[in-house]
Amino acid sequence: MRLIDLRSDTVTQPTDGMRRAMASAVVGDDVFGEDPTVRQLEERMADLVGKEAGLFVASGTMANLVALLTHAGRGDEVIVGSLAHTFLYEVGGSAALGGIHSCVLPNQDDGTLDLAAVAAAVRSRDDIHVPRTKLLCLENTHNRCGGACLSTEYLDAAGAVARDKGLAVHIDGARLLNASRALGVSPADLTRVADSVSVCLSKGLGAPVGSVLCGSRQFVRAALRWRKTVGGGMRQAGILAAAGLYALDHHVERLDEDHRNAKGLAEGVAAIPGLSSPQSQPSPTAWTNLVYLAIAPALAGERSVNAEVLSDRLRQRGVLALPVGKDNLHMRLVTHLDVTSSDIDVALDALRSAVRGT
Ligand SMILES: *Cc1c(COP(=O)(O)O)cnc(C)c1O
Repeated sequence: MRLIDLRSDTVTQPTDGMRRAMASAVVGDDVFGEDPTVRQLEERMADLVGKEAGLFVASGTMANLVALLTHAGRGDEVIVGSLAHTFLYEVGGSAALGGIHSCVLPNQDDGTLDLAAVAAAVRSRDDIHVPRTKLLCLENTHNRCGGACLSTEYLDAAGAVARDKGLAVHIDGARLLNASRALGVSPADLTRVADSVSVCLSKGLGAPVGSVLCGSRQFVRAALRWRKTVGGGMRQAGILAAAGLYALDHHVERLDEDHRNAKGLAEGVAAIPGLSSPQSQPSPTAWTNLVYLAIAPALAGERSVNAEVLSDRLRQRGVLALPVGKDNLHMRLVTHLDVTSSDIDVALDALRSAVRGT
């Protein structure tokens, strides 16, 4: 039985075309700066997000870590959302390796941080008792906030607060191109307030490995040293970069299809008694390729259907989904390159039957 894997958009298989592009990539030693395919990818992504330079790194986690290490040092503080990937799921790397202090502000449901709270959190430069606030981190799309997009209006307002307070801005744009497609706004317009931005190639874009960290030439020169420090200098990395270039050529516009599939999935979920999904509701910005599902406590109580039970039953029916959070009542379903619209129908059938337990 072919599994329909909705756990994450990281589970995609490289397509035949992508594998051919990888196999025929012209490569060199990238630590010597001699890999033309890596250079090409870095320049292409930098152009796309309106920055001077790019740096190819092994993962989104490495991109964010290198960015934070470049912007802030020991005893400096960065402002980050309570539901940010960087805060929740990156092993506290900026503290472990950089001695960087996090100021955590609550994420609002739409993935934003309240900008008055951001301004109020910035510490006095003159007080020797407090850390120096250096950086504001934002995430677009916001993973734990349901794949919500941050709008250009919000980003510009956040940028104005950061400028006023002397902070740099980093955008974790693991799914920036999803936001760009869903909002109908160019990636560069979503990053114009950012001093740095990281974009994942291995999420919706369907490449096997890699992220690109972009910023000014000066920023990227400093980031290059930190990439080497964390062991991220790779040699004939053009084989991997070729997959990223292929993805930028072939897999960006098709993100619309993932968004349509996710919308259909969310609406189907919401039509099942006892289940709901925020992504079935209209949103002031736009939803993307993530669908969060909530199990009503009544369903959990009467029928003993919780996230663990539901994911087991789905697995038996050929569908993989990820329980999330600590209450055993929430799951995440993600659409991607290897999920078709008919897979969504099959997955919804499986979900209806899994809820019934028949
Ligand atoms: C996946 C993800 C990352 C990290 O990427 P990895 O390649 O898994 O290290 C960072 N930020 C967000 C929002 C993500 O979804």
